[in-house]
Amino acid sequence: MNGLHNIKSLTLDELKTWLKSVGEKPFRAEQIQNWLFRNQVENVEEMVNISPSLQSKMKEAFYIHSLTEELKKESVDGTIKWLFKTYDNHYIETVMIPTNGRFSVCVSTQIGCAMNCSFCRTAKMGFIRNLEAGEILEEIIRVNWHLKKAGILNVENNQAEVTNIIFMGMGEPLNNLENVHRTCCTLHNQKLFNMGRKRMTISTSGVVPKIKELVDRNTPCCLAVSLNSTNNEQRSAVMPVNKTWPIEKLLEATDEYTKRTDNYVTFEFVLIKGTTCTKETAKELIRICAPRRCKVNAIALNDGDDPHLEAPSTEEVDQFLEIVRAANVQITMRNPRGRDILAACGQLAYKQGTAESC
Ligand code: SAH
Repeated sequence: MNGLHNIKSLTLDELKTWLKSVGEKPFRAEQIQNWLFRNQVENVEEMVNISPSLQSKMKEAFYIHSLTEELKKESVDGTIKWLFKTYDNHYIETVMIPTNGRFSVCVSTQIGCAMNCSFCRTAKMGFIRNLEAGEILEEIIRVNWHLKKAGILNVENNQAEVTNIIFMGMGEPLNNLENVHRTCCTLHNQKLFNMGRKRMTISTSGVVPKIKELVDRNTPCCLAVSLNSTNNEQRSAVMPVNKTWPIEKLLEATDEYTKRTDNYVTFEFVLIKGTTCTKETAKELIRICAPRRCKVNAIALNDGDDPHLEAPSTEEVDQFLEIVRAANVQITMRNPRGRDILAACGQLAYKQGTAESC
């Protein structure tokens, strides 16, 4: 099933193989991908150099688009969240974050998530299935359709196109590496989306063997790791993945990533009152980060349902930042965007089958 449901999930070679199998010329594959990923057409009929009979064959064999827009919400800060229904009636969310004329799209890579981090609402959905590459690409294409219809151009190339992709929506991207890799390759392909490696960031909770695989595959992307705690006791308490791959193993993998890709890792760090946003933790964070080529991207907890997990005060955050910065560790604070529409980090969750936020 994988790769066959959505025509956008296919690589060029796979599309050629299919074309041959239905008695068509393989060179049509380039034309079809051009329509799908460069022109980003809404209907097959717009593919004017593709014969109507091939158009029909395509419609019989594939979904050309498989997501349907169920809901679109706009935040006071301009962030937009979409709720999409998949072909098998599940729900995923996609968020577009406009910043100074650039547009980042936070894509979901799975329906739900199996990682069970205690501070994240997606965990409450459980895990349903991986998204296909075509579905992830469609999340992006649909945001482009929105920009195009609204006539909103980015400052980079004056096109109605998103400029950055962050794999930080629902799911654990590295547990869907095959499809995420395909997605990145299509995005990076100069003839298709033509997106630079630095514009795509995969965020992982720390699936260590898959970090190694990412390096082996040379997936065109940057790597962010949700470190979130500085010692195993604290980290295992909020992120069960740490029980399988503790911090030492995780750092071994990120060190290898840096060595082999010559690229730094971004450590994401959720600041939680009394646990991860303390002077002690700030010092431990310095011990981890000072000897490494890395950046820290901190974010104050977006409150969820757990009364034991609270966001820190502004003073506590400032004190934390001051300690870390005094040691010359690069740390930036991520602004929560789209909190009023539950579009911020850790807030994406839908009760499947009901289209209701849970
Ligand atoms: N599974 C991947 C990507 C999805 S989570 C990962 O764990 O990295 C994306 C980011 O949101 C992660 O850095 C995660 O730590 C952060 N996050 C999750 N819940 C959050 C919350 N309640 N408040 C702030 N950030 C949160």
